[in-house]
Amino acid sequence: LPLTPDGQTPVRVLTIAGTDSGGGAGIQADSRTMALLGVHACVAVAAVTVQNSVGVSGFHEIPPEIVADQVRSVVGDIGVSAAKTGMLASTAIIESVARVCGEVGIGRDRPVPLVVDPVCASMHGDPLLHAEALDAVRHTLIPLASLVTPNLDEVRLITGIEVVDDASARRAAQALHDLGAQWALVKGGHLRTSTESTDLLFDGESFHEFTSPRIDTGNDHGGGDTLAAAVACALAHGYPMPDAVEFGKQWVTRCLAASYDLGAGHGPVSPLW
Ligand code: PLP
Repeated sequence: LPLTPDGQTPVRVLTIAGTDSGGGAGIQADSRTMALLGVHACVAVAAVTVQNSVGVSGFHEIPPEIVADQVRSVVGDIGVSAAKTGMLASTAIIESVARVCGEVGIGRDRPVPLVVDPVCASMHGDPLLHAEALDAVRHTLIPLASLVTPNLDEVRLITGIEVVDDASARRAAQALHDLGAQWALVKGGHLRTSTESTDLLFDGESFHEFTSPRIDTGNDHGGGDTLAAAVACALAHGYPMPDAVEFGKQWVTRCLAASYDLGAGHGPVSPLW
């Protein structure tokens, strides 16, 4: 992606998410992705996780008003062209983020587009969101989304739909759009039935499919964050949504192919260059 027109100040994107002490997922994946794409990453920390390559053993939530204050502080001075949310942990944080997004113009049909990665659990099944907060994800967070990017587990938790084929993926995309997302991306990467990974994008009218070769690696930690962050970078550069998703999909595929071993578990979806 090119730098901003004046050649001096880079494009800025804000991530509102959780940290990963292992440096693989969450805010670390977001900021690394943005830096590799020539975008300046602003970060509002919503939660601190205790995490390594094997799993998440705990997390600490940042007070909701401090999460909102980080957003206010960044937007009021630095300014951002797109934002994304990742791990938000609780209803109180989701509500605080929704309030401040309204205040500063982040979200669908507002000046700054918002990519919502509705993070519920790690790939190991460790919770990253309190179960009681699912209703806030459905009715407070998703209606703010220019794009929502659930994986198949998140689709099941949010909509109750078990995606097993193209027809159920289309029903799920419709259900996410009905909840208020402008665009819904149902990520099929975890559907291990083919040699390809197909994601389905829907805006209430037409479906777009994105297919890439399945990369056979155990180093797949933080893939969802990496995809959503790359899409946010492309949106910040003014790409239309389908092009931004295509860009993010190609980016995460390249990162999967370049991922490296770390610890005893799953290495990060990230190149070293
Ligand atoms: N930790 C944080 C802070 C995250 O935001 C995420 C995913 O979004 C994860 C861990 C889990 O990543 P993965 O499911 O790729 O292990």
